[in-house]
Amino acid sequence: MSDKRWIPETLFDDLGFRMTYAAERVLFEERTAHQDLVLFEHKTFGKMLMLDGATQVTTRDEFVYHEMMSHVPILAHGAATRVLIVGGGDCGIAEEVLKHKGVARLVQVEIDASVVEFSKTHFPEFTGPVLADPRFHLVIADGMDFVATTEERFDVVIVDSTDPQGPGAVLFTREFYAGCRRVMTPGGVMVTQNGVPFFQPEELATSVGHFRSLFAEGTCYVAAIPTYVGGHMAMGFATDDLALRQIEPAELERRWIAAGRFATRYWTPEVQRAAFALPRFIADVVAAA
Ligand code: SAM
Repeated sequence: MSDKRWIPETLFDDLGFRMTYAAERVLFEERTAHQDLVLFEHKTFGKMLMLDGATQVTTRDEFVYHEMMSHVPILAHGAATRVLIVGGGDCGIAEEVLKHKGVARLVQVEIDASVVEFSKTHFPEFTGPVLADPRFHLVIADGMDFVATTEERFDVVIVDSTDPQGPGAVLFTREFYAGCRRVMTPGGVMVTQNGVPFFQPEELATSVGHFRSLFAEGTCYVAAIPTYVGGHMAMGFATDDLALRQIEPAELERRWIAAGRFATRYWTPEVQRAAFALPRFIADVVAAA
């Protein structure tokens, strides 16, 4: 052990283990009105943000999560012009969404203004292009209240939440998903951050169960994100259009070219198609939901 400050990720305390990161430097630390926020520099992962003891984003591996949470639903939809992000305070997903030429309006509803404020200083690579884009509209509010009351409608809803603790807990409820459905246009797609099924199968089962009670299609797709330990991360997928998870790579490629053929580091047409092929233990969780 070095004499650096070791910052624990306490998310899995109930399961009897912790990941602990040696901070080269703590860049920012605050008890916000909503949660404990710490941002630090890590030798391997670059800048790391933790909220309430759970890793949210690192500059080294953010591309996996942000690309898969944005490009998959938008390209599955195929003609999305209006997109809603719930959460997403660091603006990493917004940056990816705005790469799509067809997106005319992006609304991001984040409960904690301080996450956005400090990201302006510490994640300018995300916030710079996003806040300068006239298509981007930030609303500081609880996502639950927003989806229950707004008159706006969206083709794609991306739930970039914290884990189901603190203010993020409501974003895993049936009531919230029903609100998301209410604000979606016909043929719309919703995707959600649904944790690591190896450790959190009940979180995935609960969400997919809610999706199935509200939509024709409720499933998940997977990606491997190094700092979300435990293997695959599940991204919930809900829509009324059963064909959207089975779009062939050639068609996805055509849509991506039409969207601007932006550079990616994880997403490819083949990865999108394959991400819906679930390992048996995850398929079992989804089937039992
Ligand atoms: N990538 C991360 C992960 O999977 O661990 C999550 C991203 S982080 C940007 C999630 C954001 O959701 C935080 O900024 C948090 O403030 C916000 N959030 C939590 N509860 C919320 C709620 N009820 N309404 C809107 N935003 C919320």
